[in-house]
Amino acid sequence: MIEGFDILTITDTPIEDKTILLRVDFDVSLNPDHTIANDVRITQTLPTIKLLLEKHNKLIIMSHLGRPEGRDTNLSLSPAVKRLQEYLPDYQVALVDDFLSDAGKEQLKAQTPTQVLMLENLRFYPEEKKNDEAFAKALASLGEVYVDDAFAVAHRNEASVVSVPKFLPHYAGLLLEKEIKAIGSVLRDPKKPIVAIIGGAKTSDKLPLLYRLTEIADHLLVGGGIANTFLKAEGKNMGKSLVEDNLDEEVRKIIAHAKEKNTTIVLPKDGICASDKEATETTECMLDQLTSDLGAFDIGSETQAIWGNVIAEANTIIWNGPVGYMENPAFARGTEFLYYSITQNGHAFSVVGGGDTLNAISKREYLDKISHISTGGGAMLEFIEKGTLPGLEALKR
Ligand code: ADP
Ligand code: MG
Repeated sequence: MIEGFDILTITDTPIEDKTILLRVDFDVSLNPDHTIANDVRITQTLPTIKLLLEKHNKLIIMSHLGRPEGRDTNLSLSPAVKRLQEYLPDYQVALVDDFLSDAGKEQLKAQTPTQVLMLENLRFYPEEKKNDEAFAKALASLGEVYVDDAFAVAHRNEASVVSVPKFLPHYAGLLLEKEIKAIGSVLRDPKKPIVAIIGGAKTSDKLPLLYRLTEIADHLLVGGGIANTFLKAEGKNMGKSLVEDNLDEEVRKIIAHAKEKNTTIVLPKDGICASDKEATETTECMLDQLTSDLGAFDIGSETQAIWGNVIAEANTIIWNGPVGYMENPAFARGTEFLYYSITQNGHAFSVVGGGDTLNAISKREYLDKISHISTGGGAMLEFIEKGTLPGLEALKR
């Protein structure tokens, strides 16, 4: 049972000898040769898959991959099928190329309990994104039970996420449950002080989240392009730094709201500066003295010291978004510093998520010091902002 949501999980009810439609998020990043670069999203779903298989259920797995425009063999799920096969040596894992075709229907009808079938990329069908009801019905007709373990797409109003569960008994998988419980605990009764660190580039996307975080957090550390946009709204010359225009008014609203809620917004004081973000020669500079020929592409050492102290005292930490242009090693140190500061804090409950954020930390030591690493970027942020997601609403009893 997922508390507060009235959602049953696959451990609440015995689900045995059924054909299960399992929505996962196998939207893995691929190498140029179509092999999988990082399969965390597959390994995180294995507990659900194995539990359902142990109970003699037949699994029909559904996922999307990337953003195809119609059928695109570059975005086939066959690399995910191969990888899943390696994790499930006692089963045959096979791809259903088109579940609507006669061949696909035959393949599905002939499924045996030792076969795991994966439907080809759902976004090859435009109806998926359009949340088409007939398409959802066609999917639902393939199984007897729907299980959702795809937290990372739970913020999407797509057929396999919000409509298929209308037509079948529906349950949350173990990963979805874990995500909702971990992030939910930060929202429900977090231990203070609560520190939220928001960086990255997508300022306009993240402003509604920042507004909400001023109501949740005690300290809001703002970095990256978002911080530049705040500093510009305060009248500072940001030179060649990454800034999003026309957001001054919205930024001021957030600053005013933070004051009302007694939340301190801690902007960077200094930065690692250069003539452009690909530069290898850098200097440290104060952000109130930036000249027009320079931009700040990472946080500086004074900012690190201030933020480090705030993080060390936190009892709850939420982090999304790198605070520098980390693709250039010259501007990656601020993000690294943040990561190590969070892992050094032995008492806080920490939640970290976001595509680029996870890329920044994924191969590092001490990953186990983070309390919860979310598989969702957008989904995690929207869940923090709104307290629910369309995919969760669809799973309610
Ligand atoms: P996430 O995927 O973790 O939510 P975003 O997609 O919002 O994060 O932002 C990540 C991008 O932001 C990275 O490509 C990073 O280089 C860029 N970025 C972060 N800080 C800066 C900065 N100060 N200047 C330029 N780019 C930045
Ligand atoms: Mg990103």
